[in-house]
Amino acid sequence: MALSVGKRFVVAIDGPAAAGKGTIAKALSERFKFCYLDTGLLYRAVASKAIKGKDPTKVAKDFDKSLLSASDIRTADVARMASRVAKIPAVRAALFEFQREFSNQPCGTVLDGRDIGTVICPEADIKLFITASSETRAERRFQELRKTGHETNFNIVLSDIKERDERDSSRKEAPMKAAKDAYIIDTTNLNIRVSIETAISLVQSVLIKC
Ligand code: C5P
Repeated sequence: MALSVGKRFVVAIDGPAAAGKGTIAKALSERFKFCYLDTGLLYRAVASKAIKGKDPTKVAKDFDKSLLSASDIRTADVARMASRVAKIPAVRAALFEFQREFSNQPCGTVLDGRDIGTVICPEADIKLFITASSETRAERRFQELRKTGHETNFNIVLSDIKERDERDSSRKEAPMKAAKDAYIIDTTNLNIRVSIETAISLVQSVLIKC
């Protein structure tokens, strides 16, 4: 189903690391020809500069989308630092407009992150909260890292995930949580195909009414 030109339609996806949000968001954007923004990359891009000694607030205020293609932003060190800079209210405020502008495009958009359905796009047409047990998520991340040749062990990955969940859900500003009107998809016992099909049929059921 393609959306009629000029119609704004926003899919907001939130949830913890390695629950499957990125995979589901990409599949939705391909299926419905929506533009996709992985908002975690914004915080990672700021974090990568902060690791190199830059002031995170200044980087966020001068944010340029070219920062999203930095080669080092997918590492575990950057993810850890991202959840630290994400606690800074001025960083979040500076990145707010970039995300709003993205979601305001006159086409369908999918944004994934931690606060999309609650803060960035509270008026989204559909909100999904994708979750899974921390052990399942750590196992997925561990396998991913092994495949890409990273030396690590399962317990380190699990404790990183738990630490990040705790920091992301307990911060004062825009904590990670499901919006009241979000559909919760727990992927602990779902394979990726079923997770994607579940998300597609939820989006389809809303689109059909537009
Ligand atoms: O999604 P990803 O794991 O790449 O996000 C990295 C970090 O960025 C998260 O742990 C979180 O602290 C922060 N983040 C956020 N709000 C978002 C997206 C990411 O606080 N919308």
